[in-house]
Amino acid sequence: MRIANHVVDLVGGTPLVKLSSVVPAGSALVAAKIEYLNPGGSSKDRIAVKMVDEAEASGALKPGGVIVEPTSGNTGVGLALVAQQRGYSCIFVCPDKVSEDKRNTLRAYGAEVVVCPTAVPPEHPDSYYNVSDRLVRETPNAWKPDQYSNPAGPASHYETTGPEIWADTDGTVTHFVAGVGTGGTITGTGRYLKEVSGGRVKIIGADPEGSVYSGGTGRPYLVEGVGEDFWPSAYDPEIADEIIAVSDADAFEMTRRLAREEGLLVGGSCGMAVVAALEVAEREGPDAVVVVLLPDGGRGYLSKIFNDDWMSSYGFLREPLDGHTDRPSV
Ligand code: PMP
Repeated sequence: MRIANHVVDLVGGTPLVKLSSVVPAGSALVAAKIEYLNPGGSSKDRIAVKMVDEAEASGALKPGGVIVEPTSGNTGVGLALVAQQRGYSCIFVCPDKVSEDKRNTLRAYGAEVVVCPTAVPPEHPDSYYNVSDRLVRETPNAWKPDQYSNPAGPASHYETTGPEIWADTDGTVTHFVAGVGTGGTITGTGRYLKEVSGGRVKIIGADPEGSVYSGGTGRPYLVEGVGEDFWPSAYDPEIADEIIAVSDADAFEMTRRLAREEGLLVGGSCGMAVVAALEVAEREGPDAVVVVLLPDGGRGYLSKIFNDDWMSSYGFLREPLDGHTDRPSV
């Protein structure tokens, strides 16, 4: 019988699907890796499993321990799944700008959520950073995974995401494109693909305009989960051959097209990565095989990217969601 013991055993092994409608004629084959099919709904399930495995092995996380991490989204869900399976509890710290829906998602998985004010400076005792550090100090048996510096993050992608892409393309992949947040995905997957191909596979990072990876200063952008205003140690700057900067407007327009034209309801960082992948695919032509990683699904963005009023309020709206029909609305 093919019955998994626990949802955590279903992490990874996500499929590739060919993009068609959004890919201009004459371009390379573009295959998207659908990470929302992980049980927690994102690529972060992979790093959660590996970070907990390593912490158990090193003794940093003890039986009955408490996982404390500043996270508002995908990493929290992944950690909560693994915590349930193995009898840990979770406390996640998030800024008050994080939507009620996201906080409730973490609570639904059994995590405790501590909300901090956004409008205080980092050195304030109630700041996001100070509260999570204090909780780690004051909670018995606490362990902080710290996805920005934990080498288990990139290692999980080196051990799973990279080999999956190599196997599923029969070793024909020529370019790998991923958005860069902590840098774990591009560092681990990219390192594996470079090693296994003898350096043949080119690695391309996609980054929001304004973020440090593409030479910015950390200027604000609205796409979530990618871009930084500092250089995390999970990111190895030697791996990417190129970084392509993408505007919020282009990222969100492509995100909406992926839902409407490819049947892929995905998050904004996915649209961003696809914009970069299409640039590579057009430039490289039909002999290339471009794999682009789509980190999460679109349900968490319905009131933003998939809401015409929100899109208009930032001047991003190019095509209303109901703009493809001539029928009068009832
Ligand atoms: N997209 C989303 C939605 C994410 O949550 C993340 C993780 N922060 C990324 C992309 C980037 O992945 P990584 O942290 O591995 O660079």
